[in-house]
Amino acid sequence: MERAGIELNGVRYRWPSRPVVVVCIDGGDPAYFERGVRDGILPTVARFMKTGFSGVADGDVPSFTCPNNMSIATGSPPSVHGISGNFYLDRDSGEAVVMTGPDLLRSRTIMAEFSRHGALVASVSAKDKLRRQLGKDMDLSRGSVSFSAECADQCSLAESGLDDALGLTGLPLPDIYSAELSLFVLDAGIALLKARRPDILYLSLTDYVQHKYAPGEAAADRYYRDLDERFERLETLGALVALTADHGMNDKSNPDGSPRVIWLQDVLDARFGEDSTTVICPITDRFVVHHGALGGFVRVYCHGALEPAAVIDIARALPGVEAVYGRAEAARRFDLPFDREGDVAVVSRADTVIGASQGSHDLSGLAGHRLRSHGGISESRVPFILSRPLRADYAARAGASRLRSLEIFDFALNGAEPD
Ligand SMILES: [Zn+2]
Repeated sequence: MERAGIELNGVRYRWPSRPVVVVCIDGGDPAYFERGVRDGILPTVARFMKTGFSGVADGDVPSFTCPNNMSIATGSPPSVHGISGNFYLDRDSGEAVVMTGPDLLRSRTIMAEFSRHGALVASVSAKDKLRRQLGKDMDLSRGSVSFSAECADQCSLAESGLDDALGLTGLPLPDIYSAELSLFVLDAGIALLKARRPDILYLSLTDYVQHKYAPGEAAADRYYRDLDERFERLETLGALVALTADHGMNDKSNPDGSPRVIWLQDVLDARFGEDSTTVICPITDRFVVHHGALGGFVRVYCHGALEPAAVIDIARALPGVEAVYGRAEAARRFDLPFDREGDVAVVSRADTVIGASQGSHDLSGLAGHRLRSHGGISESRVPFILSRPLRADYAARAGASRLRSLEIFDFALNGAEPD
């Protein structure tokens, strides 16, 4: 007998007849798959693309990690789930707030809803910053698990649904700045499939490699080969595998290798005076070594009598800027929560990043690497790949309109042809 599925944010999700694994390849720009398939280093992904389903989807803008993970996990845009950056300015307190707290998330996740209906669910993220939102309201009393590779040594039955994540994988705790952090997530997924056979797995990686290495570079190739091998193991264990990304990645450097940056706070201070605006870089989190908190999307808050229109005029004229919108237009165009939007949103072109003031960004962590980053419209295109072909109705849908990465659970649970 087929069990009834769940409904969340207006979408009905079928109860899976076999494990469904959704992998969010952090920073997994489509260019890595294109290059890797061409170079023959991704046999599994190449096969999925040929015999399953392959497309390129729109992720949400700003193309950052937290908003897009939550869009994928809730099947809804930031205007519904509330997470529009890693960081925002609280207008009441004037404080910059990290946006990773579960209290800021306005929707349940698909994982939480399934676990509450008795499904066995596993959510594993590379960084701990995502774990609490991904695991919010998950019922961990019946074998479901939620933990991060970063804090795999600190799991408890009450908080994570298991007390020995290191024992589960047989691996040492990975370094936060390493390819192994992501591989640990996939290896945990493989171990969980063997040990518990969850109905649904969400495996969210980290973009350490993509920030550092372009498609085709040896270290990127090695990482993608390692990913590909694990995708095959997940499939061999009987899972339907769905692959997407939170955002892409672009080179943001001048020809001499130095970062190509618009120091927007400095520009606005020079024009309007200090303390007339605050530029918030919502890419900021605790881990800024490889991008120096420089991304393709910033929010400007105007103080005193300064009109947003004046900031918009200045920002639009800056070389390297792709788009500038006022608060309401940004919220409407990008499906963002109005109450957490700045007065002005500034988006840079593919080859440029936007920072606050030059003195506030530490770029020493780049250590000779070219700056690669994300956040803009140009990094919002992501892979959308399933190991199985689509049913006719979903194939028609995919052909008729642009795919969105937030539909990946819908397509994986409802749209894939059974074996
Ligand atoms: Zn990311």
